[in-house]
Amino acid sequence: MAGGAAHRNESGCGGALSGWAESWKAGPVTILGDAVHAMSPAGGLGANTALQDAAVLATLLTDVVAQRKPLGGVISSYEVDMRVRATEANDASERSARKLFEFNPMKC
Ligand SMILES: Cc1cc2nc3c(=O)[nH]c(=O)nc-3n(C[C@H](O)[C@H](O)[C@H](O)COP(=O)(O)OP(=O)(O)OC[C@H]3O[C@@H](n4cnc5c(N)ncnc54)[C@H](O)[C@@H]3O)c2cc1C
Repeated sequence: MAGGAAHRNESGCGGALSGWAESWKAGPVTILGDAVHAMSPAGGLGANTALQDAAVLATLLTDVVAQRKPLGGVISSYEVDMRVRATEANDASERSARKLFEFNPMKC
């Protein structure tokens, strides 16, 4: 991990039940699932989001071979897509957690 600030969820304080890996230098290595966007169990979104990450990455990687796209650009595309999807899922999971557990992220 290098540079960049850790993601803050919509509560503005990161929350106690979820978290993000800090941003990292772009390259041929990437991560998916809980390793990058750990999520609370609330909402049942963590596994689904991890599987979506894998499906999107696998689809994009076929373009490296089939369309001779550069690996770096493909990995960047995956990471942009992953962060948009996972941010929405993470925020939804936090909202569910607050309802279920009366979790107050403002106290963090
Ligand atoms: C109580 C609970 C309920 C949940 N309910 C739901 C639900 O209903 N629906 C839903 O979508 N999500 C749910 N989730 C979230 C879901 O379980 C996770 O988001 C999902 O498992 C993440 O998948 P992953 O592959 O990224 O990570 P993981 O499932 O954690 O897989 C990582 C794997 O890597 C292995 N590993 C770790 N370190 C190493 C190492 N150094 N070398 C080799 N292997 C290693 C681990 O043993 C593990 O098998 C729940 C989570 C919890 C805690």
